[in-house]
Amino acid sequence: MTFDFSGQSVLVTGGTRGIGRAIVEAFAQAGARVAFTYRSAGHVAEALRAQLAQNGTDVLDFQADAADFEAAGRVVAAVLEAWGRIDVLVNNAGITRDNLLLRMSEADWDAVLAANLKSVFNFCKQVYRPMMRQRSGRIINISSVVGVVGNPGQTNYAASKAGIIGFSKSLARELGSRGITVNVVAPGYIETDMTAALPEQAREAMLRSIPLGRPGTPEDVAQAVLFLASPAARYITGQVLHVDGGMAM
Ligand code: NDP
Repeated sequence: MTFDFSGQSVLVTGGTRGIGRAIVEAFAQAGARVAFTYRSAGHVAEALRAQLAQNGTDVLDFQADAADFEAAGRVVAAVLEAWGRIDVLVNNAGITRDNLLLRMSEADWDAVLAANLKSVFNFCKQVYRPMMRQRSGRIINISSVVGVVGNPGQTNYAASKAGIIGFSKSLARELGSRGITVNVVAPGYIETDMTAALPEQAREAMLRSIPLGRPGTPEDVAQAVLFLASPAARYITGQVLHVDGGMAM
């Protein structure tokens, strides 16, 4: 699939690995200037920055915990200073701390809600004014099939991902008249570091529940994100696009 994002500025949270990295690479390939954040993997970020720059992409990277409001402010200010605008924001950063509620610690609840949901508040709030002034913008938030159908052992994760959906629909209503769209992508079972830790039995059960009969790739998700950021999606807002091989229909 080909999209043209030449001249556009894109900011992706959690861009060094998995789905976020595929989103960064796809936007770069489509001609965008790409800024990405990460929390800890500095050497991975450095290698990715070098790879993109070598291919002629304008790239910025920031070590910034997406759960940290002040850090989000610094990232957005630096991108605006460098490029003058942010056309597309993709809130992708996310973590899991799975356990049955019976054994889930308060720290695991707080960490997941902060990294997955507060992070979305942080970055959306920081781009709100600049995008309003531009009278254009695309915000795409990465939720999960788990936020729609639930999953035992993931009450914290499911709550954070369902929260993203309600947040995004409300923000879509707030920003619609300014020419800004807000949509959600809800991936199903995608092969990344996050899912590599799953036991074989859980993996097989998961595969049986996918009508398309295979796990998704990070690129499958990236293509849906690029579509929602593209002119082809200009009349779509407040929607949840499931990229899950049919898991949640
Ligand atoms: P990975 O664990 O493979 O990668 C996560 C990325 O996010 C890394 O680049 C990581 O950087 C970064 N990150 C994590 N926490 C933070 C933080 N607090 N601040 C900044 N960056 C952070 O995850 P996936 O690619 O699998 O998942 C990406 C998103 O997609 C998540 O929101 C996840 O919930 C969602 N998702 C994934 C599914 C799957 O099957 N894989 C299914 C449905 C949704 P670092 O290495 O530096 O920590």
